[in-house]
Amino acid sequence: MGSMDALLSNGYNNSHRAFLQALLAHGTVTFEQLQSILAAIFNVANGGDGETRPDQVTQEDVQAYLEIASDAASLFDYEIRSTVHQLTKQRIYSLVNTTSDPQTQLATTYNPEELSFIKRVLDGMFDKYNTPRMEALAITEMQAIKFARPNRRQSQSQMDGDEEAPTQTSTDKGLKHSEVENVLASLLEGGWFEKSKDGFYAVTPRALLELRPWLIDMYNDPDAGPDEWQRIKFCEACKDIVTMGLRCSEPNCTLRLHDMCQEAFWRARRTGSCIKCSREWTGAHFVGERAVTMTEAYRRGRRRSGGRRSTLADEVIQQQADDAEQQEALEEESVDEDQGDE
Ligand SMILES: [Zn+2]
Ligand SMILES: [Zn+2]
Repeated sequence: MGSMDALLSNGYNNSHRAFLQALLAHGTVTFEQLQSILAAIFNVANGGDGETRPDQVTQEDVQAYLEIASDAASLFDYEIRSTVHQLTKQRIYSLVNTTSDPQTQLATTYNPEELSFIKRVLDGMFDKYNTPRMEALAITEMQAIKFARPNRRQSQSQMDGDEEAPTQTSTDKGLKHSEVENVLASLLEGGWFEKSKDGFYAVTPRALLELRPWLIDMYNDPDAGPDEWQRIKFCEACKDIVTMGLRCSEPNCTLRLHDMCQEAFWRARRTGSCIKCSREWTGAHFVGERAVTMTEAYRRGRRRSGGRRSTLADEVIQQQADDAEQQEALEEESVDEDQGDE
């Protein structure tokens, strides 16, 4: 009650209510969208007496409304949080439920089969397609379709070929092809996933805001040392999660940076060498879909197929895994034989 009194003395009125409702409807908004929402609200409140254009809505207007709306939202266990996109740097504002976890929220939208498919897709992004040598952290629709049905194989990323393992003898029959497409489309619409022009699905800034504790809990080893490779990685500069960014060229090194964080980071250090392993920092080794799409094999494949080969990402990832395996076998051999020459 006390907080409601405080709200009312803050001047919470119909425009604030309309603002909060617009936020609820959108889930996630950009600054420009906030300007449009507010311009519409101002115009209604004005009763047609002079038109406010979205670009006339100031940073101060937006800030004032965000603060009052945030206070009001907290009464319903919501909070307005803000973050920036790792690549576009676009700032987003999101109304986040502070009491219910994402699984609970998703459970109101999806049935159990769909939920377990979503979990398999997340396992794909954060486990199967996220290895020390290739941290794609994104999956194509083709790859997602392979997760349509539950697999007997556990999510331990064993590289034991591509053959379809028999499905579990459980009631979970998985999803049909068209259902997979629908769930992916609705995850895009719901603001959980985004799709790149190369056709990769990845988690959005909003998803990272909400899923952060769950992702760390689910995919990282709490007993790992500070320099051990982990599935969820953090930017050395801003300490936020990196799912799209840059990495050290040494596969065993754990230095990761966002594109937008790297310049200031290296300028302050006056060096071009990795501060963890002292290898030269290339700025051309990637976390995210570019780990796949910037490879020579991928670019060659795209040129040849005119960008129409949906299995290309899979082929490149498989080739890379084979190469890595061969490389490791070679290294083991040379250790066994203790040879100094080739
Ligand atoms: Zn960063
Ligand atoms: Zn390094």
